[in-house]
Amino acid sequence: MNGDPSSPAILVFADAQQVAQQVAQMIAEAIRAKPDIVLGLATGATPIGVYSELVRLHRESSLDFSRVRTFNLDEYIGLGPDHPQSYRAFMRQHLFDHVNLGPGRTHLPEGLTSDVAAHAREYEAMIQAAGGIDLQLLGIGDNGHIAFNEPGSLPDSRTRQIELTEATIAANARFFASPAEVPRHAITMGIGTILEARRVILMATGQRKSQAVRRALEGPVDVDSPASQLRRARNVIFALDRAAASQLSSHSIRTD
Ligand code: PGA
Repeated sequence: MNGDPSSPAILVFADAQQVAQQVAQMIAEAIRAKPDIVLGLATGATPIGVYSELVRLHRESSLDFSRVRTFNLDEYIGLGPDHPQSYRAFMRQHLFDHVNLGPGRTHLPEGLTSDVAAHAREYEAMIQAAGGIDLQLLGIGDNGHIAFNEPGSLPDSRTRQIELTEATIAANARFFASPAEVPRHAITMGIGTILEARRVILMATGQRKSQAVRRALEGPVDVDSPASQLRRARNVIFALDRAAASQLSSHSIRTD
């Protein structure tokens, strides 16, 4: 099922902390190898440990972000950068305020834009002008979404407005006072945008993600599992803990 040459490498670590440390090491090595790297960044609970490890490496090992540029995957429509649940605020809290990344070097879609379609085109153009994304960090939704590309998103989709599914709204309600406060729409990079990154690291931890991970790696490549589209790309790593990998058949795990 998974034997074609472009199949993702699957790295399984003991627990979520190990995943965070190893992924942070990969990112740190990539920054040291290319100090003006363009990073694609993700929000959500899963990458928080990666960001705290990168902050530690900045403080204790002089990891230098001064020439790095970043593009985040998505932002809620209707939330401004100062809203505590905006992804801009999340990134400031977990990374941007703690490393030497200038504000002009970090990019997220703007949740308060008056013209989403024009802004989405501009975001794509900014990524292109930066030379494309060298290394894209991703989480995965319980429903297999990557960024906010919900099931049904096309493989060649670009940055655009998307309506969040009830499952995603329910999953993200934990960050808000109530489900009613979760925005119904977001701007997200498309699957086509993500597939153009030169390297992708998808992280998944916990039993809750095991079915989406199995579907992405061992089910058909189709629009019902947006993460399955990563099997079309080269240089993709799935960095998993044992719980997230627990539904994989062992033959699909390879670590080259
Ligand atoms: P999580 O979200 O890291 O908060 O589980 C992942 C995602 O929905 O992409």
